Amino acid sequence: MIDRAIPLLYLAAAASFILALKWLSSVPTARRGVIVGAAGMALAVAGTLMKPEIESYRWIAVAFVAGTAIGVPMAMMPMTAVPQRTALSHAFGALAAALVGTAEFYLRAPAIDRFIMGALVLEVLLGFLTFTASLMAFGKLQEILPTRPITWRNQNILNFTLLGLAAASGAYLVARPDAIPLFPVFGGLALVFGVMLIIPIGGADMPTVISLLNSYAGLSAAAMGFVLDNKLLIIAGALDGSSGLILSVIMCRAMNRSFTNVLFGAFGQVQATAGAAGEQRAVRSATPEEAAGVLQAASRVIVVPGYGMAVAQAQHKVRELYDALTKAGVDVRFAIHPVAGRMPGHMNVLLAEANIPYDRLVEMEEVNSDFPQADVALVIGANDVTNPAARHDTNSPIYGMPILDVDKARTVMVIKRSMSPGFAGIDNELYYLDRTLMVFGDAKAVVGNLVKEFAGGT
Ligand code: NAP
Repeated sequence: MIDRAIPLLYLAAAASFILALKWLSSVPTARRGVIVGAAGMALAVAGTLMKPEIESYRWIAVAFVAGTAIGVPMAMMPMTAVPQRTALSHAFGALAAALVGTAEFYLRAPAIDRFIMGALVLEVLLGFLTFTASLMAFGKLQEILPTRPITWRNQNILNFTLLGLAAASGAYLVARPDAIPLFPVFGGLALVFGVMLIIPIGGADMPTVISLLNSYAGLSAAAMGFVLDNKLLIIAGALDGSSGLILSVIMCRAMNRSFTNVLFGAFGQVQATAGAAGEQRAVRSATPEEAAGVLQAASRVIVVPGYGMAVAQAQHKVRELYDALTKAGVDVRFAIHPVAGRMPGHMNVLLAEANIPYDRLVEMEEVNSDFPQADVALVIGANDVTNPAARHDTNSPIYGMPILDVDKARTVMVIKRSMSPGFAGIDNELYYLDRTLMVFGDAKAVVGNLVKEFAGGT
């Protein structure tokens, strides 16, 4: 009976994971995707707990309580900290895979066949390197570690040597699983390589790297599936591995960067110098009252949300502004840049949370041709994704990144607290245009005032 129930539960779990990924890829079905994915995981855990080889549930219960105690507070972290949170989850997942692989090695060696040993080596290599690399990525994003890239001469040679040594000792272990003392050396090399991999990468590239580490953790879990002869792990790991890789490619494309450039380019270093070179130039600033006056005269407004809107949690005030403008007959749309914010889909999630209708959200490629007809481009806490330097300044670190053409609107209104740069650490020439009005202040407070002033004036 149990023998038949477990494969059925696993099959249902695998189908749920595939459906979850499909539904997660569009905003209207994303909630359903999350629920189905979580239900699939519950089925997978239930199936595994039914396995007859489990002798006692005592330690499993301890792990369950400990996991819940860590997982629940992690889930409560604010939206803006999602990249860090994801890095931590990858670190734990990868460590679990590497430790299972280590335990299997010591339980079975030297009687391990070549294929299984090959999978085990891959599992442990990817697991340990992802563990330390993800912790480093977490440290950089949380600013516990310096976010700038740390580079030195021949660094790539050293890193490749480390990886080469780890791969060579892994290959030796596949040929000679009886070389038991070599195993800790192999694991140690993978752990050190994970640290070295992240040291030269700047904080600006961390979200892309995290997505790549997601892929490694998935591949490690798939390899674990072969070691443990667990088909569900193979399926789930392969889905995780491929989706992480696809996401990294999408993010690199949206920033016009190549993978090798992200991994070996030391991106953040250019930004630091570029940011420091910015000289003092005059800008036109406006009060919320003056800004509301401009909005009253507008009939087409394109709102450009960015990271600042997320930090300020201004999405509900933005919804109030949307309602007020729409009520006054203004056509309001939201321009969505693929890497606005700190994770893909960041803006979509926040605007959906504030119940802004999906059909008002327009992707970059589609909305860019509409900016010249817009009376106002209202930039709320977005910076890099609106910087015209990306189009023409070959020395800019964001040169070539596709941007939202807000500078083509009749009036540009920018809400931010100061003249501080955005994620890439560079000045934004948009702010110095004659038709740009800077409305300084916290996004939530400024948008709130705009709503009041706008309503008062209509
Ligand atoms: P951004 O360039 O990071 O700029 C955000 C702006 O928000 C800052 O200039 C800041 O200026 C302002 N701000 C911060 N807190 C605020 C508050 N409470 N109220 C009002 N304004 C506030 O943001 P972005 O235009 O969204 O661009 C995203 C950046 O992240 C890009 O460089 C992108 O490449 C990078 N990135 C994104 C992803 C992704 O997946 N989304 C992944 C990797 C990298 P003040 O300090 O003056 O207020």
